[in-house]
Amino acid sequence: MLRDEYETVIGLEVHAELSTKTKIFCSCPTSFGAAPNTHVCPICMAMPGTLPVLNEKVVEYAVKAGLATECTISQDSKNDRKNYFYPDLPKAYQISQYDKPLCEHGKIEIEPHTGKKTIGITRIHIEEDAGKLNHDDFGRGSLVDLNRAGVPLIEIVSEPDLRSSEEVDLYLRKLKSILEYIEVSDCKMQEGSLRADVNVSVRKKGESKLGTRTEMKNMNSFRSITRAIEYEIDRQIDVIENGGKVEQETLRWDEVSGKTFSMRDKEDAQDYRYFPDPDLVAIKLSDEYIENIRKTLPELPESRKQRYLTEYGLSEKDANIITSSKYLSDLFEEASKICKNPKAVNNWIISDISRILNETEMDPVEIPFDSKQLAKLVMLIDKGTISSSIAKKVLVEMFEHPRDPEDIIDEKGWVQISDEGAIKEVVSKVLANNPQSIADYKAGKEKALGFLVGQAMKETRGKANPQMLNKMFKEELK
Ligand code: ADP
Ligand code: ZN
Ligand code: MG
Repeated sequence: MLRDEYETVIGLEVHAELSTKTKIFCSCPTSFGAAPNTHVCPICMAMPGTLPVLNEKVVEYAVKAGLATECTISQDSKNDRKNYFYPDLPKAYQISQYDKPLCEHGKIEIEPHTGKKTIGITRIHIEEDAGKLNHDDFGRGSLVDLNRAGVPLIEIVSEPDLRSSEEVDLYLRKLKSILEYIEVSDCKMQEGSLRADVNVSVRKKGESKLGTRTEMKNMNSFRSITRAIEYEIDRQIDVIENGGKVEQETLRWDEVSGKTFSMRDKEDAQDYRYFPDPDLVAIKLSDEYIENIRKTLPELPESRKQRYLTEYGLSEKDANIITSSKYLSDLFEEASKICKNPKAVNNWIISDISRILNETEMDPVEIPFDSKQLAKLVMLIDKGTISSSIAKKVLVEMFEHPRDPEDIIDEKGWVQISDEGAIKEVVSKVLANNPQSIADYKAGKEKALGFLVGQAMKETRGKANPQMLNKMFKEELK
């Protein structure tokens, strides 16, 4: 295999929209989904003569992200203008940070199948988002929506330390979970709150110089990122093997054809004519300011994971899955507290709930029920009101038409039959219809009992209490 002769090198630039109430340089709201051009003012529309004022929350959130990823926080930082022309950028420059970012030299730990590994974070800087172009489907033109112009972003740039799509996936998931835990971004990828520019290159194994990279911009789904990387690795190896040279360029990933297409030559820093923004003052942070932010850091995924191993006796694998999302982790802790059965809550989360999330490509934050409802589901099983097989159906309902599990059971008539008289009636009926099984059982074929219980479950459409059925069949067959 040709691939074995090459090494893949990947570095990520991740943009996360910060969940501050207002934009980075004006007081317009940042909320998603408003009618076009309703969250705008002269400043974010770039009217001549307007002046930006830095939103302090943006600095606080960026510092928080830096501390959570073990960065050094720069006490002397500034904003720079990055000049380029594009219709969604009304000022014709983006206010960003160039040579003095707020945070530098951080790291994130991942655990691919090859073993634990540290991915370096080069820098985290603050900048403003651009507006959005809505292209007319019929090619008549494009409309500009400036609601997103000036929404605060942090850009988290990784070192070229990643070596496979598996490592990229794990790194991005870890980064996303950290940002969720510290509550600086909602990280909703489908709304573009978290998006990654993926830089990929290949080189012959043993080579120390990096290969020429291509960059795929604004990727916002884990699945596409993996597919795009795999495609790009093959494409680049192909180019080299055929005697060509990989061009440094910006690519667009097309989900439908499963291919990358060239968008433009890659710009270099010099193309942007960076210079300090003369309208903004330097950002000077005191030790005290940074320490105060450090004090607000919540318990991070790694520490929660350790606690789940000791406090709840979860397996390392389960604890990893649950703590990968703050939402799942909160759901687990709160539901366990209410129903006092953490083992059962853990099982629901790592099996049925995870499966449904995977199948529907749903993010845990979109789970439509809360911890109280999940706890109720567990308690209904523990009390014997429903069987665990019925509970699986209730859970599907809770996803599809969210309401209290009790209401679902009432409406559907799914309450478990635990009444002795009713159970006895079913048992008698099943026995009367299956004389062969009775004979088999008496002849020592234990399996016949399972068949009879199965028939009784079928008869009651899964509602009979299986323990009671078992017991009663045994008694009757004595
Ligand atoms: P820009 O893409 O804006 O010019 P940077 O140089 O800051 O900016 O970011 C480049 C990103 O690409 C970083 O994440 C870095 O790790 C990664 N990178 C740089 N060189 C390579 C390479 N040869 N192969 C893969 N990734 C690379
Ligand atoms: Zn504004
Ligand atoms: Mg880039």
